[in-house]
This record gives sequence, C-alpha cells and structure tokens, in this order.
Amino acid sequence: MLIDVALPLPLFRQFTYEVDTPLPAGARVVVPLRGSRLIGICLGAHQGAVSFAPRKVLDIPDAEPALAPQMLSLCQWIAEYYVVPLGLVVRSALPAALLGADTPRPAPKIQRMARIARDLPSLIERDAVFARAKRQREVFESIETLGNRAPVTHLVKQLGVSPSVLRALAKRGLIEIDEDVVERDPFAARPVDAARHAPTAAQAAAVAALSAGKPGEVFLLHGVTGSGKTLVYVEFLRHVIETRGQTAIVLVPEIALTPQTVDRFRAAFGDRVAVLHSALSDGERSDAWHALKSGRKRIAVGARSAVFAPLNNLGAIIVDEEHEGTYKQGESPRYHAREVAIVRARLEGAVTVLGSATPSLESWSNASTGKYHLLSLPDRVGGGRLPSVAVLDLRRPPDTPAPSPLLPPLEKALSETLERGEQSILLLNRRGYAAFVQCGACGDVAVCPNCSISLTDHRTPPRLVCHYCLHEEPPRETCLRCGGKTLRRRGLGTQQVERLLAERFPSARIARMDVDTTTGKWAHAEILDRVGRGEVDMLLGTQMIAKGLDFPNVTLVGVIDADVGINLPDFRASERCFQLLSQVAGRAGRAQKPGRVLIQTRLPTHHAVRYAVAHDYASFVREELCGRQAPPYPPTIRLANIVFSGTDEQSTSRFAEESTAWLARLPAEVSIVGPAPCPVERIKGRWRWHVVLKAEQPAELSRVGRYFMRRIKPPAAGQLRVTFDRDPVALL
Ligand code: ADP
Ligand code: ZN
Repeated sequence: MLIDVALPLPLFRQFTYEVDTPLPAGARVVVPLRGSRLIGICLGAHQGAVSFAPRKVLDIPDAEPALAPQMLSLCQWIAEYYVVPLGLVVRSALPAALLGADTPRPAPKIQRMARIARDLPSLIERDAVFARAKRQREVFESIETLGNRAPVTHLVKQLGVSPSVLRALAKRGLIEIDEDVVERDPFAARPVDAARHAPTAAQAAAVAALSAGKPGEVFLLHGVTGSGKTLVYVEFLRHVIETRGQTAIVLVPEIALTPQTVDRFRAAFGDRVAVLHSALSDGERSDAWHALKSGRKRIAVGARSAVFAPLNNLGAIIVDEEHEGTYKQGESPRYHAREVAIVRARLEGAVTVLGSATPSLESWSNASTGKYHLLSLPDRVGGGRLPSVAVLDLRRPPDTPAPSPLLPPLEKALSETLERGEQSILLLNRRGYAAFVQCGACGDVAVCPNCSISLTDHRTPPRLVCHYCLHEEPPRETCLRCGGKTLRRRGLGTQQVERLLAERFPSARIARMDVDTTTGKWAHAEILDRVGRGEVDMLLGTQMIAKGLDFPNVTLVGVIDADVGINLPDFRASERCFQLLSQVAGRAGRAQKPGRVLIQTRLPTHHAVRYAVAHDYASFVREELCGRQAPPYPPTIRLANIVFSGTDEQSTSRFAEESTAWLARLPAEVSIVGPAPCPVERIKGRWRWHVVLKAEQPAELSRVGRYFMRRIKPPAAGQLRVTFDRDPVALL
C-alpha cells in the first residue's frame, strides 16, 4: 500500500512511501530520505500509480495519530492560505520533540507517589488498625487530606515524615508507593489568588451571549480598559468546561508579559490548565502536549502557537488583546493566530472570542458588517472612571533650547504621586540611551555595517548596538566620516530617562522594563511582581509595560514621547500608535483611586494622539479607515508582501524586477505595487526589495501566491531568496 507523507522540508511537494498495513492520516511515520531518517505525517493513501519504486516506511511510532483529522485539515488550510509547504505547517503545529530529530520522546520526569491503598471509613476500624501506631495514623490521614495521593518527597521534605513510617504503611498494605509521571510546569510554582467576583450586569450579559453562541460563531468583545474582560472569559469558560464538559484555548500576546492574566485562569481552573510558555524546555512542552491530548488538561493558555494545542471536543478559543501584532508569526509559516483560531473554531464547532479595548481595524470591520457579533463593555467595573488625559506639547520655537525630557507638569505629577505613596508608569518606546549618534560638524549618523539602520547608543555597558542584527561596537570618539569630535546623542532612550528620574527623585524606587533588563527566563514576572507588592514607585519601560497590567495603586501614567514610531513608513503606524497610547493610558486609575495620564508629543493634532486622549475609539477608526481608501490598504482590500533579498544589491533588484514583470503577465484580479526597495533596505547584510499585491478577493491572492511560489526559482541559488507574507502586519 502506498501513502503520501508530509515532511518538514521547505518544499512544495509530498513524498510517497510504502506501508504494510493501512495507516490513518495524521499518524507519524519514520521514513528514509537521501540517507537520513526523517519523521513525517501520513496524509492518507496515495492516489494513482507511481513511476518509481517507493521505499518502505521504517517505523510507525505511535498507536494513535499525532494530528487529529480536524488538525490536519487546519494545517492544510494554513498551507493553502499562507502559501507555505504543508510540512512546515505541521512542524509548527507539533512540539519539536515529536518531529524535530529522529529521537525518542524525552524521558518524562518520574516521581514516587504514595497512594491510599485501603479505605478505612469507620473510626472503629481505624482505631483497631492503627492501635498505638500514632505516627502511622497521622501520615495515613495526611495523605488522605492531600487527595489520597502525595509525592513521597513532599511528605518527607515538607511534612517531616520518616521514610520508615511510609515503609511500614506500605508493608501493611495501607498505602502503595509507585512511580508517576510529573508534568514539568514552571508556572505551577506561582501563587494564585482565588478571590472570585460576581459578574456585573454588563459582564453577565456578555457571558450569556457567548454561552448562547453557535458553533463556529465569532464574537468581538470590545471592552474599555479595566472593564473586566478577563472575568467574562473566565465565566464563559466555566460554562464551556464545567457545564458542557468541553475544552478551550486561551491565546495571549506573550505569556511573560501577562502573568496576571495567566494567574487568573489558573486561579479559576487550577491544574486543568496547561500554560504553554516559551521558556518551556522541549521535554516540558512535550509533557504539556500529551496532557492536553489525553484530556488530563482541559485548557491551553499560551502565545500564538497554542492555537495548535491538541485538544479534543473544543468548545471555545479566546484571543485576548486580539489587535496585538505578536499574533503574526514573523517567519515561515507566516500565519496570524487570530485568523487561524477562527478557522480552527469553525472546523471544530467552537466559539471564538476576540477581546480588546482597541480592536484591529480588520476585526472591527468584520463586526460592522455583521460577520462577527459585537459585544461591548463600555464602562470600567465598579463605577471606575477612565483616567483624565492631557497633552503636553514638546514643540519649541526655533533657536530655543531643547526642553527637558520631563516637562514641568509631568515632573510635578510624578512628585505628587510619589508623595501620596501611589505608583506611576512611564512609557518610552525606545530602549537604550539614545536613538542615534550624530556628528555635530558633518551631520553623519552612525549606522550598522550590516543594516540600513542607525546604531543605538547604550550606556550599561557602553556600546553602539544595532537593534535589528544585534551588531555591537565600542562607542565612537570621533566621526568616522570627517573626524569631528563633537558627537551628539539624539532621541531619548529608556536608559537616559532612568538616569534622569534617579537624579530628580532620589528617594523613588525605580524599575526599568525593556529588552535589556528582561533577558532572564522569569525577569518580566519578577519586575511585575515587585510592582504588585508595592516595592516600586515608578515603572519605566517600552511597549512591554502597556499590555494588560492591572495594578490598583497606579494612578499616574506618563508618556515621555508619544511620537516614537508614528512616522514609520508603514500603513499601520497610526493604528499602532493609537493602540499603544490607549492601552498604556488604560493602566491608570483602575481601582477606586482616580487616574491621570500625561502625554508628551510634538504632534498634538495627529488623529492617533487626539482620539487616544479623548478615549474615542470609534472616531479614530472612522478617520483611519478613510485614510485606507485611496490608496487602498487593509481592511479595504487584502494584501500580500513579497520580499526579495540577496547579498548582492544589483542581482537582488534585478530578481525583483524580473519576477514582478512575470507576475504582471499573470491573468489575475490583483494590482501590483512595486517593485521598490523595502523601507529598511538592508538587514543582516542582505539587500531587500519588495512588491505588494492588493486584491479585493482573498481567493485571488491565494491563487496568484501559489502559482508564483511554486514556480519562482531564484537564479543564483543560495544567494537570492523570496518570501511571501500574506496579511502582513508591517511592510518594513
Ligand atoms: P480589562 O482586561 O478589561 O482591562 P480586567 O479583566 O483586568 O480588565 O479587570 C480589571 C479589574 O477589575 C481587575 O482587577 C478585576 O479583578 C476587577 N474586576 C473585574 N470584574 C469584576 C467584578 N465583577 N467585580 C469586582 N471586580 C472586578
Ligand atoms: Zn544591523
């Protein structure tokens, strides 16, 4: 019998092998290919004849298919829609330990467990059995209170039980000691607060609407910051998990940045939750995968790849902060987890909930046309008010000295907040000390040798760093171009603001959170936990601090420079700026104490700034949608970005031009913009050109994309590359 197999290779083709017995689609197979052994996924029986002698499958490692039929369909949809080889999609959908190398699954961690082996329901019986063996009775009863089973190390180390007592109990047949598989879950160590609030009327209405949702339906939960969206998710999942006995997936933008959200799900559902953290080892990931597949865990919480959690009987997928760009994968397969979630939910009859205070324009449009159901939470919980927001204008007449990075009203507000014993959050979306270094004489800016990007000045330790390729060099003394000795640091970074805050507020406890301070596995959670315990007065950071944080004592939010990123040559720059400002403003005044927000900007009349100040999402969207009509951009039309790159500038542009000419001759309802150099022309030593395809019909993009990607052959193999990015989040 012949079967087709998808192998984890960047090739648009399937492979055919021979098996002795029929094999279900989705099963793992070990097969020979060019002298090596690879693990692939069976796609079903091969149709038709073959013109070669197929080789035999070497091994079938599992009793049950690794990919359930609906998961295989999902992978096939992704492969078609995003124009990626199926084998690469399958590789993303399964833990590395199952496909990566041809190795057995990492050995699970084993621990010895003591279990009650005999019921002693009556006191009389108990008295008789234990008589004067008081210690044995105590230990037996401790194990009972721990749920009739307990790890031996816990009993011995934490409870001080002597191993000889355990041996005696086991010898008498009262307990059994055996080995058990432990799931390695680093999140399990975090304490959870199990306080449960009764839903408000608005929350209850949203939960009721979700619970009445039909299979495949999509809901957009638009709730202002602090409106209690998490409680809506939790109560809806109670219905899904407990009343209906189904399973669920919760997607969050980044686990490390949202420990509070994750803790709330764990508080509600305890060890039925598997947290899929990016810091999990391959072994831990494979344990979690098996626990979900076998039904031992019923809820998967994780970043975008958790959309592939191997749950059966799926009832719901929640996509929290659905507008976040991190849901899009930056490398092949370039899928968007929000869109994959919707397709998976449709395939499996589950309900999708997209939640945000600042929904993406795509989701908002779909809610406007009735494709999604809109649910609104227009108010903060408990009568809390949205914070008052004011703009501080950074502009100065020419020839006046540059203003201090903290304008007087912001400095005063920080000092008042500190005096009241309340906390402040300060946003500056640029790490390092200064954005760039410029020669005072000739104006030359230090740029990366590998990328067309200026080098960022860092102080701790002192060096110039490229944020694209991580190239580092010592700080310069003189200009490389003219030898000038006055090098000016321009564009404020978080390190500089941190120093300034420490000078101005010597008594304040300051924490900085950006890529440079969060390299450790648990660094994010540690900083945030310190803020939660009131050990930090001022939390300064990049966009990392704008996501979902809920600290009741934060009453002031300051934005040092709202304009970072607003002028990037990208059609989503304004949307991202509006979302960031609205989200960070939403961290202030979330409990009883009222909140204040001060935004420093040079663009006070820009619509992203103006509507964020007014908490006016609807008006922002109206104006932004107008701006995406002519020339049209999503959600008005659909996009794909084809990027050509190579180490040689000339052959890269020629490749882009020839490919575009070929594309232009294809009969298709797409318009072609370009080719042109990418806004970031060079990254890691590779020149980059791109061409943008626009279509009214999504199916046209799939059709053209597939035709193009299957036939395009970069002339100088190895040097030139082409990538296809469907629904790109940025065109940089
Ligand atoms: P959002 O995600 O919408 O910004 P959260 O879900 O973080 O808001 O909720 C904001 C705060 O309100 C949290 O501290 C949460 O515990 C609290 N909260 C939510 N719902 C209720 C409720 N029904 N009663 C009391 N407190 C609530
Ligand atoms: Zn670089």
